[in-house]
Amino acid sequence: MHTVAFIGLGNMGAPMAANLIDGGTTLRVFDVVSELAKPLQNKGATACTSAAQACEGAHVVISMLPASEHVAALYLGKDGLLTKLDPDTLVIDCSTIAPATSRQVAQAASTLNLSALDAPVSGGTNGAKHGTLTFMVGGAADALERARPLFGLMGSNVYHAGPAGAGQAAKIANNLVLGIQMIATAEALNLGVANGLDPVVLSDILARSSGRNWAVDTYNPWPGVMDNVPASNQYRGGFAVDLMLKDLGLAIESAEQQHCQTTLGALARELYAQHSADGHGTLDFSSILKLVQKT
Ligand code: NAD
Repeated sequence: MHTVAFIGLGNMGAPMAANLIDGGTTLRVFDVVSELAKPLQNKGATACTSAAQACEGAHVVISMLPASEHVAALYLGKDGLLTKLDPDTLVIDCSTIAPATSRQVAQAASTLNLSALDAPVSGGTNGAKHGTLTFMVGGAADALERARPLFGLMGSNVYHAGPAGAGQAAKIANNLVLGIQMIATAEALNLGVANGLDPVVLSDILARSSGRNWAVDTYNPWPGVMDNVPASNQYRGGFAVDLMLKDLGLAIESAEQQHCQTTLGALARELYAQHSADGHGTLDFSSILKLVQKT
């Protein structure tokens, strides 16, 4: 198996990297928060002190960073990481970022004879942990085939969405649905409980009725309804409110460029923004239930 550099070891990156190690990959890891590398080092990864050092001898680079600016700062520019990679290295960015930034990275990579894929994921931290993520891939089909064995260690579904940036276009559409559905689910559960229903019973009913969705049956926002979700862990870990805010911003920006309407998306963004301004930006996004209960 090739040597892989993994950059960004947060809520998603760390379990994804762990699955690569479990699958026999030789891994070199880096995060600006150095202690995040420790558990992976204990599993056999080499902890590095910079992204460039992590890429020494690597044939594939995978990044899992918060937002467009982090990805652009990492790869682009005259001293960017792309300029330090051996020709033929495959760059796979799994972060959720603007399609335009993914296209910029792909363009810069191709001028240096490197291949680049945007490969954002869905499935949450449990999907990352259990290796059941869905990859939405933008870029050349042959690069995707090179990446497929690695995707197989981290996920169970791989879709070729189209050329560079197409993976991001799919991901921001997905998260437009998710952001709205989480609020709808929180409102419905709050209403049901106010009417005297047990949140577990109501969640079961919704999960087997036309109100069924991922927020209710896999990532329930009501504390105690499900084990192993952020709602049952004081909304710690998971997918931060501020990251959902970023993704709704990406969807709305893209909708403006394409002259599409996102009325509910804009309203959802306002609600997550309000929740973040209340001091909950680092909590999991299912904590939007707190805002629903406040108003
Ligand atoms: P996170 O904030 O937990 O992790 C990001 C990590 O990147 C942090 O550990 C941070 O220290 C590190 N980092 C930032 N800049 C860096 C740099 N220049 N070099 C090295 N490391 C750097 O975020 P996350 O929840 O893991 O999400 C990562 C990406 O995946 C985001 O784009 C997010 O939108 C997306 N995503 C998250 C989830 C989820 O459920 N958390 C699900 C799907 C997609």
